[in-house]
Amino acid sequence: MLSIKNLSVKAGKNLILQNINLDIGKNEVMVLFGPNGSGKSTLLRSIMGFNGYQIVSGGIIFKGRPLKNLSVETRVKQGLGIMYQSPPKIRGVKLSQIADFLCPDKAKICKLAEILALTQHLSRDINVDFSGGEMKRAEIFQLILQNPDMLLLDEPESGVDLENISLMGGVLNGFLQQEGKSALIITHTGYILDYVPAEKGCIMLDGKIWCLGSPKEMFENIRSKGYEKCRECTFRG
Ligand code: ADP
Ligand code: MG
Repeated sequence: MLSIKNLSVKAGKNLILQNINLDIGKNEVMVLFGPNGSGKSTLLRSIMGFNGYQIVSGGIIFKGRPLKNLSVETRVKQGLGIMYQSPPKIRGVKLSQIADFLCPDKAKICKLAEILALTQHLSRDINVDFSGGEMKRAEIFQLILQNPDMLLLDEPESGVDLENISLMGGVLNGFLQQEGKSALIITHTGYILDYVPAEKGCIMLDGKIWCLGSPKEMFENIRSKGYEKCRECTFRG
């Protein structure tokens, strides 16, 4: 589904990602760990083709085709979807308007809004005065209505309480159970691992993929020993 080959990316003048190689197959979920500033969000933004990220070498293949030079819009049409770490507020656009734009099925919109406790929010401007949990639920809501094949989730649990994580985790899990859906998920807390079927994990340090392995084992090691121990480790998965 997604194949990243020898990818190096500059943001501004700085080389942020160095020689990244990753493969995520159809129906596969990969979890990406790494300390703050290691380049995780940069990787997701580079996959989406956002402005400000310059690919200096290597490339990204999605569904067998290179993404090079494709606009964000085209990438979305081909089946990529992102959930932001800090979603933007959009004054003047109601959540229901974007929902109608993303999905023609009104009944589906209403049902999903109800499940995600967003029915009252449909008539409000997107993310304006939403709580942290509401913003993240609204992100999942839009992403699922968009119906991408490859979900890029940037810290879906950050700033979300346990009850809301469970609600979002259940919805995400249901979505990922469908045929042909894959995901790359950045997580710090690891809570999302209780809900989504992640088979693969990787750790990013200083813009490089440090190791590949089982996400649950990796998370336990990070929790007990910290990322500094990763640096000393010569195991590369
Ligand atoms: P993470 O998500 O792992 O916390 P980021 O990918 O957000 O890390 O950032 C990695 C590094 O790249 C940071 O030092 C950040 O300041 C830098 N960076 C990210 N985007 C830009 C940009 N547009 N211009 C300059 N530096 C950037
Ligand atoms: Mg980040």
